Amino acid sequence: MMSAKPTIKLLSTPEIDPEKGLVLTARAVPSPNFDDRPEGMQIEALIVHAISLPPGLYGGAYVEQFFCNQLDQDEHPYFAEIADLKVSSHFFIHRSGELVQFVPIQKRAWHAGKSICMEREAVNDFSIGIELEGCDEDTFETAQYQTLIELTQILIAAVPALTEQHIYGHEDIAPGRKTDPGPGFDWPAFRLALSAQKLQVAAKDDDSL
Ligand SMILES: [Zn+2]
Repeated sequence: MMSAKPTIKLLSTPEIDPEKGLVLTARAVPSPNFDDRPEGMQIEALIVHAISLPPGLYGGAYVEQFFCNQLDQDEHPYFAEIADLKVSSHFFIHRSGELVQFVPIQKRAWHAGKSICMEREAVNDFSIGIELEGCDEDTFETAQYQTLIELTQILIAAVPALTEQHIYGHEDIAPGRKTDPGPGFDWPAFRLALSAQKLQVAAKDDDSL
Protein backbone atom coordinates (compact mmCIF):
# COMPACT_ATOMS: atom_id res chain seq x y z
CA MET A 1 0.00 0.00 0.00
CA MET A 2 1.28 3.42 -0.88
CA SER A 3 -0.75 5.42 1.57
CA ALA A 4 -0.38 5.39 5.32
CA LYS A 5 -2.64 3.09 7.28
CA PRO A 6 -5.99 4.66 8.02
CA THR A 7 -6.31 5.45 11.70
CA ILE A 8 -9.88 4.22 11.73
CA LYS A 9 -10.58 0.59 11.01
CA LEU A 10 -14.09 -0.06 9.80
CA LEU A 11 -15.68 -3.38 10.57
CA SER A 12 -16.44 -5.47 7.54
CA THR A 13 -20.17 -5.68 6.78
CA PRO A 14 -21.97 -6.62 3.56
CA GLU A 15 -23.10 -3.02 3.04
CA ILE A 16 -19.76 -1.24 2.94
CA ASP A 17 -16.33 -1.38 1.40
CA PRO A 18 -14.27 -1.06 4.59
CA GLU A 19 -11.04 -0.20 2.80
CA LYS A 20 -12.50 2.60 0.70
CA GLY A 21 -14.95 3.69 3.39
CA LEU A 22 -17.84 3.66 0.95
CA VAL A 23 -21.42 2.52 1.43
CA LEU A 24 -22.22 0.24 -1.50
CA THR A 25 -25.81 1.42 -1.95
CA ALA A 26 -24.70 5.04 -2.29
CA ARG A 27 -23.97 6.77 -5.58
CA ALA A 28 -20.40 8.00 -5.16
CA VAL A 29 -19.85 11.67 -6.01
CA PRO A 30 -16.31 12.37 -4.81
CA SER A 31 -15.83 15.80 -3.26
CA PRO A 32 -12.41 17.43 -2.88
CA ASN A 33 -13.59 18.99 0.38
CA PHE A 34 -12.18 16.64 2.98
CA ASP A 35 -8.98 15.84 4.81
CA ASP A 36 -7.66 13.37 7.36
CA ARG A 37 -9.13 13.05 10.79
CA PRO A 38 -6.57 13.59 13.55
CA GLU A 39 -4.49 10.50 14.29
CA GLY A 40 -6.12 8.10 16.72
CA MET A 41 -9.49 9.84 16.43
CA GLN A 42 -12.57 7.64 16.66
CA ILE A 43 -15.88 8.42 14.97
CA GLU A 44 -18.38 8.86 17.77
CA ALA A 45 -21.25 10.99 16.47
CA LEU A 46 -23.69 11.33 13.59
CA ILE A 47 -24.80 14.83 12.66
CA VAL A 48 -28.06 15.23 10.74
CA HIS A 49 -28.41 18.29 8.51
CA ALA A 50 -30.80 19.65 5.92
CA ILE A 51 -29.96 21.61 2.80
CA SER A 52 -31.65 22.58 -0.44
CA LEU A 53 -30.41 24.78 -3.26
CA PRO A 54 -31.76 27.24 -3.96
CA PRO A 55 -33.21 27.18 -0.44
CA GLY A 56 -36.64 25.53 -0.47
CA LEU A 57 -36.34 24.13 -3.99
CA TYR A 58 -35.75 20.43 -4.56
CA GLY A 59 -34.60 18.09 -7.24
CA GLY A 60 -31.72 19.97 -8.84
CA ALA A 61 -28.09 18.94 -8.97
CA TYR A 62 -27.05 22.09 -7.12
CA VAL A 63 -26.30 20.54 -3.73
CA GLU A 64 -24.03 17.97 -5.32
CA GLN A 65 -22.35 20.72 -7.33
CA PHE A 66 -21.98 22.87 -4.21
CA PHE A 67 -20.23 20.12 -2.25
CA CYS A 68 -17.91 19.56 -5.21
CA ASN A 69 -17.04 23.27 -5.68
CA GLN A 70 -18.83 23.27 -9.04
CA LEU A 71 -21.74 25.55 -8.30
CA ASP A 72 -22.23 28.13 -11.07
CA GLN A 73 -22.85 31.38 -9.26
CA ASP A 74 -24.66 32.85 -12.26
CA GLU A 75 -27.50 30.33 -11.96
CA HIS A 76 -29.14 31.94 -8.93
CA PRO A 77 -28.48 35.11 -6.88
CA TYR A 78 -28.06 33.06 -3.70
CA PHE A 79 -25.33 30.96 -5.28
CA ALA A 80 -23.04 33.97 -5.51
CA GLU A 81 -23.10 34.19 -1.71
CA ILE A 82 -22.06 30.60 -1.15
CA ALA A 83 -20.14 29.58 -4.25
CA ASP A 84 -16.74 30.15 -2.65
CA LEU A 85 -17.48 28.15 0.50
CA LYS A 86 -15.63 24.88 0.72
CA VAL A 87 -17.94 22.48 2.48
CA SER A 88 -19.09 18.88 2.25
CA SER A 89 -20.85 16.13 4.07
CA HIS A 90 -20.24 12.43 3.96
CA PHE A 91 -23.76 11.69 2.74
CA PHE A 92 -26.72 13.37 1.06
CA ILE A 93 -30.22 11.92 0.87
CA HIS A 94 -32.40 13.22 -1.96
CA ARG A 95 -36.17 13.68 -1.54
CA SER A 96 -36.55 10.40 -3.46
CA GLY A 97 -34.46 8.60 -0.85
CA GLU A 98 -31.50 8.26 -3.18
CA LEU A 99 -28.25 8.14 -1.24
CA VAL A 100 -25.13 9.99 -2.38
CA GLN A 101 -21.71 9.75 -0.74
CA PHE A 102 -19.18 12.57 -1.15
CA VAL A 103 -16.47 11.67 1.36
CA PRO A 104 -15.15 8.31 2.61
CA ILE A 105 -16.25 7.49 6.15
CA GLN A 106 -12.69 7.47 7.51
CA LYS A 107 -12.01 10.96 6.18
CA ARG A 108 -13.06 14.25 7.72
CA ALA A 109 -15.85 16.03 5.85
CA TRP A 110 -16.48 19.74 6.42
CA HIS A 111 -20.06 20.00 7.63
CA ALA A 112 -20.28 21.01 11.29
CA GLY A 113 -18.54 24.38 11.35
CA LYS A 114 -18.17 26.06 14.74
CA SER A 115 -20.03 23.73 17.06
CA ILE A 116 -19.91 21.78 20.29
CA CYS A 117 -20.93 18.14 20.57
CA MET A 118 -20.42 15.81 23.52
CA GLU A 119 -18.71 18.77 25.20
CA ARG A 120 -16.07 18.85 22.49
CA GLU A 121 -15.25 21.31 19.73
CA ALA A 122 -13.88 20.42 16.28
CA VAL A 123 -16.91 18.22 15.70
CA ASN A 124 -15.87 17.31 12.16
CA ASP A 125 -12.94 15.41 13.69
CA PHE A 126 -15.13 12.75 15.27
CA SER A 127 -18.42 12.84 13.38
CA ILE A 128 -20.14 11.75 10.19
CA GLY A 129 -22.31 14.33 8.43
CA ILE A 130 -25.57 13.36 6.75
CA GLU A 131 -27.49 15.97 4.77
CA LEU A 132 -31.17 15.53 3.95
CA GLU A 133 -32.56 17.46 1.03
CA GLY A 134 -34.97 19.80 2.75
CA CYS A 135 -35.37 22.99 4.71
CA ASP A 136 -36.56 24.22 8.09
CA GLU A 137 -40.02 25.08 6.82
CA ASP A 138 -40.75 21.61 5.52
CA THR A 139 -41.14 18.02 6.63
CA PHE A 140 -39.18 15.16 5.11
CA GLU A 141 -40.20 12.31 2.84
CA THR A 142 -40.82 8.77 4.04
CA ALA A 143 -38.23 7.58 1.52
CA GLN A 144 -35.67 9.86 3.15
CA TYR A 145 -36.36 8.41 6.60
CA GLN A 146 -36.05 4.90 5.20
CA THR A 147 -32.68 5.66 3.67
CA LEU A 148 -31.52 7.51 6.79
CA ILE A 149 -32.52 4.62 9.06
CA GLU A 150 -30.77 2.08 6.82
CA LEU A 151 -27.69 4.25 6.57
CA THR A 152 -27.57 4.82 10.31
CA GLN A 153 -27.73 1.07 10.93
CA ILE A 154 -25.02 0.43 8.36
CA LEU A 155 -22.77 3.03 9.99
CA ILE A 156 -23.38 1.83 13.54
CA ALA A 157 -22.53 -1.72 12.44
CA ALA A 158 -19.36 -0.65 10.64
CA VAL A 159 -17.95 2.11 12.83
CA PRO A 160 -16.68 0.69 16.14
CA ALA A 161 -17.19 3.71 18.45
CA LEU A 162 -20.46 4.92 16.95
CA THR A 163 -23.72 4.29 18.81
CA GLU A 164 -27.29 5.41 18.31
CA GLN A 165 -27.05 7.44 21.53
CA HIS A 166 -24.88 9.97 19.74
CA ILE A 167 -27.01 11.23 16.87
CA TYR A 168 -27.56 14.98 16.81
CA GLY A 169 -29.06 17.67 14.65
CA HIS A 170 -26.87 20.49 13.43
CA GLU A 171 -29.16 22.78 15.43
CA ASP A 172 -28.24 20.87 18.61
CA ILE A 173 -24.51 21.35 18.21
CA ALA A 174 -24.58 24.93 16.88
CA PRO A 175 -27.59 26.48 18.62
CA GLY A 176 -28.27 30.06 17.63
CA ARG A 177 -26.14 29.66 14.53
CA LYS A 178 -27.78 26.72 12.75
CA THR A 179 -31.41 25.62 12.61
CA ASP A 180 -31.24 22.46 10.49
CA PRO A 181 -32.71 19.92 10.12
CA GLY A 182 -35.44 21.99 11.77
CA PRO A 183 -38.79 21.34 13.41
CA GLY A 184 -40.03 19.31 10.44
CA PHE A 185 -37.62 16.49 11.22
CA ASP A 186 -39.39 13.81 13.25
CA TRP A 187 -36.79 12.78 15.84
CA PRO A 188 -39.17 10.56 17.86
CA ALA A 189 -40.17 8.58 14.75
CA PHE A 190 -36.56 8.29 13.62
CA ARG A 191 -35.39 7.06 17.04
CA LEU A 192 -38.33 4.71 17.38
CA ALA A 193 -37.60 3.18 13.98
CA LEU A 194 -33.96 2.69 14.94
CA SER A 195 -34.79 0.90 18.19
CA ALA A 196 -37.54 -1.16 16.53
CA GLN A 197 -35.02 -2.40 13.98
CA LYS A 198 -32.64 -3.28 16.77
CA LEU A 199 -35.33 -5.33 18.50
CA GLN A 200 -36.06 -7.14 15.25
CA VAL A 201 -32.40 -8.01 14.83
CA ALA A 202 -32.24 -9.20 18.44
CA ALA A 203 -35.34 -11.36 17.94
CA LYS A 204 -33.82 -12.88 14.82
CA ASP A 205 -30.67 -13.71 16.77
CA ASP A 206 -32.78 -15.42 19.43
CA ASP A 207 -34.51 -17.58 16.82
CA SER A 208 -31.23 -18.88 15.55
CA LEU A 209 -30.12 -20.20 18.94
ZN1 LIG B 1 -26.19 21.81 8.74
